[in-house]
Amino acid sequence: MPTKVKCLASLEAGKYPVPSTVARRDLRSDDIEIKILYCGICHSDIHHVRSNWGPDGYGYPVVPGHEIVGKVFRVGLEVSKFKVGDSVGVGCMVDSCQTCATCKNDREQYCNSTTFTYGSLDRRDGSRTYGGYTETIVVTEKFVLSIPETLDLAGAAPLLCAGITTYSPLRRWDTHPGSKVGVVGLGGLGHMALKLAKAMGADVTLFSRSQGKAEDAKRLGADQFVISSDPEQMKAVAGQFDLIIDTVPYNHDVNPYVKALVPEGSLVLVGYFGPLEPTVNSAPLVLRSQNLAGSLIGGIKETQEMLDFCGQHKIMSDIEVINARDLHSAYERLVKGDVMQRFVIDITTL
Ligand code: NDP
Ligand code: ZN
Repeated sequence: MPTKVKCLASLEAGKYPVPSTVARRDLRSDDIEIKILYCGICHSDIHHVRSNWGPDGYGYPVVPGHEIVGKVFRVGLEVSKFKVGDSVGVGCMVDSCQTCATCKNDREQYCNSTTFTYGSLDRRDGSRTYGGYTETIVVTEKFVLSIPETLDLAGAAPLLCAGITTYSPLRRWDTHPGSKVGVVGLGGLGHMALKLAKAMGADVTLFSRSQGKAEDAKRLGADQFVISSDPEQMKAVAGQFDLIIDTVPYNHDVNPYVKALVPEGSLVLVGYFGPLEPTVNSAPLVLRSQNLAGSLIGGIKETQEMLDFCGQHKIMSDIEVINARDLHSAYERLVKGDVMQRFVIDITTL
């Protein structure tokens, strides 16, 4: 019998999540049931419930949340990687075909059958997936991550999305001691990019619209803070960066960031998915052999590698733990960009 659990669910397009219930499936032989303790709030949750990416394709309710940590509560008959009581996490994906070339290459995020943690259909039984704003989740063991003992569970939750989404491009573009890295936007992803790039030895500059975030950027380790709306400050950093990771969630002018790259440097968009206005001038890109790229989360193997790296370096997200009833005010602050860390829901308050 499926189990009914308490949750926060968006009940129709454009509506913020409210207290509700959903059903969790019985365990399959390779499933793990997790008692969720904390779930981070990603700006993607807001895009979903505000229908910024269109109304949800698989209908409502939508239970957001893909930065999930908790303890293993039950395991299926064939589970071998985890045991009851282990500290575990779940990120943006809960399944994929596991047989195609991208899955075999540990890039499950590009599989044609990727099952996302919420707003997706289970590839085996066609049921809707519900995310981490709930008491429990049932996930195939391949997609469950191990949380290192050195990490506090609430501070580790945002690593499951904000951490891997910024770690992956930092690694792909070979960040090392002496690399000059720029990060655009000091929010959930931005502050993780900053911490991870510093741990890899980079010199890091934070680009922000908000003068009020300068002190926090420095406290988090930024070597330099640039107000992105100030043309003089932008001019002063032209031609400096090997890599810039742009986490801004909405359309904005990326041309000034192209100008800030060294020849052969790369601007990697992770925040906004859509047509860019004003359009990108390709002249500097071509004349200086630069790259304009995008990046989507990371595979399961790389996510575990990122968690182990964070465990070794004791890297966690800066967090504000909130009660479930304060979700809407947290969402409003995120919409305004008035946050420089992650909100994490204490799931015991559901
Ligand atoms: P946050 O809201 O935590 O941070 C975004 C930051 O962007 C803000 O703090 C602000 O920083 C800056 N910003 C600039 N313009 C705006 C604006 N118009 N409105 C709001 N903020 C603005 O978001 P997250 O870090 O959680 O997510 C960032 C984006 O990344 C989202 O679009 C999300 O969907 C996407 N995402 C992509 C993933 C991927 O795989 N590619 C995975 C996860 C998330 P400042 O004040 O410093 O300018
Ligand atoms: Zn996310």
